[in-house]
Amino acid sequence: MKFSAHEWRGHFPLLANHPRLHYLDNAATGQLCAAAFDAVTHHELTQRANVLRGTYKLAEAADAAYEQARRQAAAYLNAASADEVVFTSGTTAAINLVAHAFGDTLQAGDEVVLSLAEHHSNLVPWQMLRGRRGVALRFIRLADDGRLDLARLDEIVTPRCRLVAVTHASNVTGAVSDLVPIVAAARAAGARVLVDGAQMVQHGPVDVAALDADFYAFSGHKAFAPNGVGVLWGRAEALAALPPFLGGGGMIGRVTAEETTYAAPPRRFEAGTPPIAQAVALGAALDWLRAQPWEAMRAHTTHLAQRLLDGLAVLPGLTFLGPREMTERLPIVAFNLAGIHPHDACQVLDAHHVAVRGGHHCAQPLMDRFGVEGAVRASLAPYNTEADVDALLEGLKDAQRKLK
Ligand code: PMP
Repeated sequence: MKFSAHEWRGHFPLLANHPRLHYLDNAATGQLCAAAFDAVTHHELTQRANVLRGTYKLAEAADAAYEQARRQAAAYLNAASADEVVFTSGTTAAINLVAHAFGDTLQAGDEVVLSLAEHHSNLVPWQMLRGRRGVALRFIRLADDGRLDLARLDEIVTPRCRLVAVTHASNVTGAVSDLVPIVAAARAAGARVLVDGAQMVQHGPVDVAALDADFYAFSGHKAFAPNGVGVLWGRAEALAALPPFLGGGGMIGRVTAEETTYAAPPRRFEAGTPPIAQAVALGAALDWLRAQPWEAMRAHTTHLAQRLLDGLAVLPGLTFLGPREMTERLPIVAFNLAGIHPHDACQVLDAHHVAVRGGHHCAQPLMDRFGVEGAVRASLAPYNTEADVDALLEGLKDAQRKLK
């Protein structure tokens, strides 16, 4: 199928409102697609009611829309059943749910394996669990190009390991994790696997069946959908084995003054009123995304990222964080310019209408590994064009003239 970035841009209302903007901060959040926009409007104007509570027609319509969103999310992930989809408020909430529900089944001496590439949201909840349960954390280290160093995996994933929680792709280096040996090592140890899919979902449908993990977390806002909603996918058997995390309405079987029995998954993990309109919009966005020509779109973003890498490579004093080649990586490029603080570079770039992020990107252990405080990060989506990349490169040359 043919793909035109200019046509694709037409599906993103904010970009039409900011024709001069070069939006290159897609790893932080993707712009809202029209399908999600329209779904929110339709839902709020025609179906707004609480879910799981009403028997009148409006509430039944809200229920149906919410459950359809669950099926749409399941289809995007190639999940075996919609009941494997738990709506959360985002990746962070999904990981914290597992850190509590699964984490509280662990004991002192059990081990959780992470990597040094993790976003703080897949690190801090496990450090907090260590404080509660006395589990030990072990880390997969990083090679010089930012990829996970899997050479001594068998020494890191030991028989004491109960969970391996790793990112599908780094939000700093763009490196895609080689999950096959990681899942194999976890299985050999009898451990569960949680994959942080926050970055991956923006770049096409994911196949959780092929990944063979137990849990997969992502946020709606990275997938061109609203914020305030996300997904925890869990293999049916893995979810069924978990106790609830948050207690409240909607997650119960029967409540007496003394005791409560719990609903089956996914409801067991959706206490209280969920983000209904946001979930409906996420479902619509994922449905639309699923029908897009991803092969052509990935070729487009790879071409742009290569253009960016080539343009950066000739700038004096430039250092990359992450792989230089475009295989097994997302179009996310992090770098530093000698003598220029990332925040200062971002400010000059803003004057060029280029929106990029500078800082530690919630990945301080990764920054420590490379001995830097932070980096400038440009992250590309299919609506970006060569003009966006060229504006960034021009802006950086200007920053070097002004700031050095
Ligand atoms: N993991 C990764 C890899 C991320 O990039 C992000 C968002 N920057 C998160 C987790 C957290 O996502 P959220 O803030 O939407 O919960």
